[in-house]
Formats: sequence, C-alpha cells, structure tokens
Amino acid sequence: MAKHAAGKQAGAEARAICETHLRNRGVALADLAELVLRLQCAFVPGLDAAECLESVEAVLAKREVCNALLTGIALDELAERGALPEPLLSTVRHDDPLYGIDEVLALSIVNIYGSIGFTNFGYLDKVKPGVVGGVDRGGHADGRCNTFLDDLIAAVVAAAASRIAHRHRDTLGEAAWMGPGTPVRHVDATSRAGPA
Ligand code: MG
Repeated sequence: MAKHAAGKQAGAEARAICETHLRNRGVALADLAELVLRLQCAFVPGLDAAECLESVEAVLAKREVCNALLTGIALDELAERGALPEPLLSTVRHDDPLYGIDEVLALSIVNIYGSIGFTNFGYLDKVKPGVVGGVDRGGHADGRCNTFLDDLIAAVVAAAASRIAHRHRDTLGEAAWMGPGTPVRHVDATSRAGPA
C-alpha cells in the first residue's frame, strides 16, 4: 500500500475509534460541528455545518488527538468505577479545579493548528457553550465523571475552528487580507478569543 493511502487509512481508523468512544459518552460529532459553526460563522461567510463537521473529522483523524481522547476518557471511566488510586480518584471524581491535568492533556490537541487554538480553547473552557457545558454538567451527576471529557471536546472544537480559520486565510491569500476591501471579520478570526 502506498504511504499516502496507508496514512489515510490510519486516519480513518483513528477517527472511527474516537467517534465510537465519544458516542458512548453521549457526544455526537454533529454537536461538536455545531459549536465550531457558532465560533466561526461570523468570520467566514457561507460557512456551513457540513464544512464544520469535515473539520471536526479531520482533527479526530490525527493519531495524537485520538491518543489524548482515549487517555482522558479512560481516566474518566476508571474514576467512575472507583478504579484509580487515591488521592487521584477523589481529585478526578470531584473535578478539582486545581488539578489542571485535564486541561494540560487537552492542550496537546489545541496545539495542532497553532496559537488561534489557544484563544478558542480559552473561550470554550470559560464560557462552556453548547455540548461543552452539557458534558461538564453531566459529569456532576451521580456516578458520572467527565473531568477530562469536557476539556477534550472543547479542544477538538477549538482545533477544528482554528483549522477553518487557517484554511480560509489560505484560500483568500495574503493580498486579500492586506489590501483594500480586506474582509475584516476574517482578520478577526485569527486575533480574537471568541465569537462576536
Ligand atoms: Mg475538566
């Protein structure tokens, strides 16, 4: 098999594994895509749900993203079963705000599409819109733990939104950004933390 085809197959497998694990935890890729659209629609004219879903799937096809997701979800599930050693068990179960390793793991996803991802992630982590807030609240129900999951999906959304910002800048070219009639909202897409 050619190297490129093998890479594509590995990416499709990683994406399928991620999708299954997310679905098992109540997260649909369409929910993530909807949040990407909310983040980027003001900056990218004509952006639609299909392009946002394609971007989410592209992020999930990265092996390092898949590894981060599987690691975090496994830790959440081990905490739900009481299978982590103390004091880690109590820390993860109670989503201790000073723990911080859930955010650190998520940053390994955010990094993939550059510094725009950091600002997008900061916004999602603070405001917790849409599915991110739903997962965060769901993790406080009896017997449930989403300490890692909320940060991981916020990171996937942030990375997918950043990927769209980069791709549209590439499409327009530098002249379109710098010259007369520059689409100001596109420029904003690379410099602000959240949607208007
Ligand atoms: Mg968390």
